[in-house]
Amino acid sequence: MNILFMGPPGAGKGTQAERIVAEFGIPHISTGDAFRLAMKEGTPLGLKAKEYVDQGLLVPDDVTNGIVRERLQQDDCKRGFLLDGYPRTLAQAEALDGMLKESGRRIDHVISLVVDRDMLLKRLTGRRICKSCGATYHILFNPPKQEGVCDKCGGELYQRSDDTEEKVGTRLDEYLSKTEPLLRYYRDQGLLREVNGEQEIDAVTAQITSILKGQAE
Ligand code: ADP
Ligand code: AMP
Repeated sequence: MNILFMGPPGAGKGTQAERIVAEFGIPHISTGDAFRLAMKEGTPLGLKAKEYVDQGLLVPDDVTNGIVRERLQQDDCKRGFLLDGYPRTLAQAEALDGMLKESGRRIDHVISLVVDRDMLLKRLTGRRICKSCGATYHILFNPPKQEGVCDKCGGELYQRSDDTEEKVGTRLDEYLSKTEPLLRYYRDQGLLREVNGEQEIDAVTAQITSILKGQAE
């Protein structure tokens, strides 16, 4: 099953993706995670991405498409994949269509998580991430059992440098101007399903799972 998760920063894509890939046994491909890893390792890709990520701006399409193209060619994607945070522009969506067509694949489901702006601000500024395993928490809405420590692996939790109030504003503006118009592209193809991302985490997972299993009304 080939799935896209869309929605603004903070909508819950990563949180839900962790759960859905565990259930469906497919790889979770997050372009944001790929850029953060490259930035941490200081590779040429990381240095290029840093110029944009640090400002809350989208990384140019050719750079982003290149990493997705390479990732989708790996063997573990043969059984399916979950793309989280890609595509984010029309040019990326068209590039993805081309990549999939070349290998005889197609998108099965596009899930869009819907959350309003005030809630996104609260979610992003309170988000914490495990340095070791990447699990996502929230200081109020989804806190770890012990402050600053990952429940799953005992790793240290940190705050992303782009989760500050000023950068969050730029990131949400980027979403509205460049990514939100894409919803129409997938709606017109009959692929888009909107899910209320303001429900409890478990309720969101249940709704996505039933859509993917074809059980939603
Ligand atoms: P995205 O990947 O879309 O940017 P995340 O999954 O990282 O979003 O979620 C952003 C923040 O909101 C995290 O701190 C996460 O713990 C929290 N969160 C995610 N889903 C929910 C939810 N349904 N209710 C409350 N908080 C949530
Ligand atoms: P995320 O982890 O999805 O919030 O992404 C973090 C940052 O990585 C974004 O603010 C962008 O700078 C960059 N990024 C992630 N995915 C993309 C994409 N598909 N296109 C362009 N930039 C991206």
